[in-house]
Amino acid sequence: MEKLIDLAADLIVKSKYCIAFTGAGISTESGIPDFRGPSGIWKRVDPKIATYSFFINNPGEFWKFHLSFIEIKRAEPNKAHFSLAELEKMGVLKCVITQNVDGLHQKAGSRYVIELHGNLDHVVCLSCGKHFKINDVIAGLDENKLPPKCPECGGLLKPDVILFEEPLKRDVLTLAFKEAYKSDLVLVLGTSLVVYPAAYIPDIVKSQGGKVIIVNLESTEKDFLGDVVIHGKLGEILPKIVDKVRENLRSIS
Ligand code: NAD
Repeated sequence: MEKLIDLAADLIVKSKYCIAFTGAGISTESGIPDFRGPSGIWKRVDPKIATYSFFINNPGEFWKFHLSFIEIKRAEPNKAHFSLAELEKMGVLKCVITQNVDGLHQKAGSRYVIELHGNLDHVVCLSCGKHFKINDVIAGLDENKLPPKCPECGGLLKPDVILFEEPLKRDVLTLAFKEAYKSDLVLVLGTSLVVYPAAYIPDIVKSQGGKVIIVNLESTEKDFLGDVVIHGKLGEILPKIVDKVRENLRSIS
């Protein structure tokens, strides 16, 4: 393990444009369950509940599930989120591309974060297109009267996150892919790498001769892409990598 941490730190220090690509696994140590990990949500809930068609046909039931998910707005960043913010401050990490909708990277201090799948903070009206803050919508919400309706036009409100079957926002995806094309090293952290198009990010970096570091509890669909693959908890491994990067930077300055 120590050797892999040294190797990862060495690649980070030598890189010219290192980016991070994160998934739900980086937030499990903040108490937010992932989808497909050992205690993932899909172990107890049918994944179809997160599809656009389920939302449209059963908005009340969808919102009931969603309100339990919104609890995650109370979560705090963990050591893994803080480690990425620290790497950005050191100048060695240029950007975080996340599949997460919990906002914990920003809460930990990361400044350049691309949220591929949106953020739980907002909802959008499917009739008039207006956006509202989730806190304003759920304040005083009667759980027996779901789904919540648009305060302006009475239309159906949808969380402004990407559901299964929905396309990603083009400008956001383009920006993320641009960052991947610029990158010569990607840290792939806490993702099973099965959700597309997000999961193309490491392929893009690799296809241009860049390097890939994967840190995940279990093996992923794409461990074969990894120049360094570490299986373990991000909250334990990332702080060790950061310490090593700091040490290496000191020794070359
Ligand atoms: P996933 O559930 O498919 O995979 C998560 C991976 O993280 C698993 O392979 C698991 O082994 C690993 N993992 C869990 N805890 C870990 C830890 N402490 N350290 C290291 N690895 C750990 O999640 P995904 O690949 O991100 O894709 C699923 C979708 O889930 C994303 O689109 C995302 O929008 C959504 N999601 C987001 C949140 C969130 O915002 N926190 C939570 C659940 C799901």
